[in-house]
Amino acid sequence: MDNEKIVGNNFKAGFVSIIGKPNVGKSTLINRYIGEKVSIVSSKPQTTRDRILVILTEENYQIIFIDTPGIHNPKHKLGERMVKEAERGMENSDVVVVLLDATTGIAEEDNMILKAVSRLNTKKILTINKIDTVNKKDELLSIVDRSKAICEFDEYIPISALTGENTDVLLECIVNMLPESPPYYPVDQLTDKTERFHVAEIIREKILLNTRDEIPHSIAVVIEDFNDEESPDRVNIRAVIYVERESQKKIIIGKQGSMLKKIGTEARLDIEKFLGRHVYLELWVKVYEKWRKNDYALRLFGYK
Ligand code: GDP
Ligand code: MG
Repeated sequence: MDNEKIVGNNFKAGFVSIIGKPNVGKSTLINRYIGEKVSIVSSKPQTTRDRILVILTEENYQIIFIDTPGIHNPKHKLGERMVKEAERGMENSDVVVVLLDATTGIAEEDNMILKAVSRLNTKKILTINKIDTVNKKDELLSIVDRSKAICEFDEYIPISALTGENTDVLLECIVNMLPESPPYYPVDQLTDKTERFHVAEIIREKILLNTRDEIPHSIAVVIEDFNDEESPDRVNIRAVIYVERESQKKIIIGKQGSMLKKIGTEARLDIEKFLGRHVYLELWVKVYEKWRKNDYALRLFGYK
């Protein structure tokens, strides 16, 4: 990160709401931008219901994506209350990106969203997603026309979040609309704040609590998989507990796995509280000899 860019007036930053009915492709789009990059997905214990922030920091800009609930939770119908919540999130945004689905056209829920967005004073972009599924340009144009009747947007961009088509154009458009501003979130502390980091810490804490002095601090917890692809209300987490010796592995697993089960249950309950979602937690124990003296392992475990 170039500090000159932040200190000078060359840095842009802002909040960007991603709005759309369930299954329109919001997560797919955000994941495309975030990819494997270090990012933070901050959702404090009690506020998960309010909003989820996903932060993308690049050389000269920082975008804070807001994924709004209700709209984001397919279990709920997009009722009046949901629209209110979504509006609150959108009001504090610099840019609002509305996603429509090229395959379904404009549905009742889309109408409500378009109406809500039309009342906002922010910059607005209409994206029609899933263009990989349609081959008639007329269909896209008719969606644009019908949405224009409800809400005027600053830009109209057809994309495919799945294939990546035109997503670079959308990103460029968003960045252009961002105000000049220093980053809202520290660019060099991102790794400390990931959900993964907290989850690993919770698991580590439960191990230390349950094993007391038998297990020294020479354990590391690595989150190998963390995803909510199957359902937005449930996160599947696979974590590996690394120890230095076979004897430590035995202690953590316990008689017929009883200790690992206890650690897993306690950790899961806390993680569910932290994430505000159901959690399926899978724990593995592996021996990695003398990892504390191994540079690669230290980096792998996030200590460097
Ligand atoms: P969300 O509920 O708005 O977050 O939607 P998701 O991102 O979870 O996507 C819902 C489904 O639509 C998933 O099966 C995605 O793979 C699919 N999807 C998302 N974007 C596209 C796209 O551009 N084209 C196609 N064909 N499918 C997509
Ligand atoms: Mg989603």
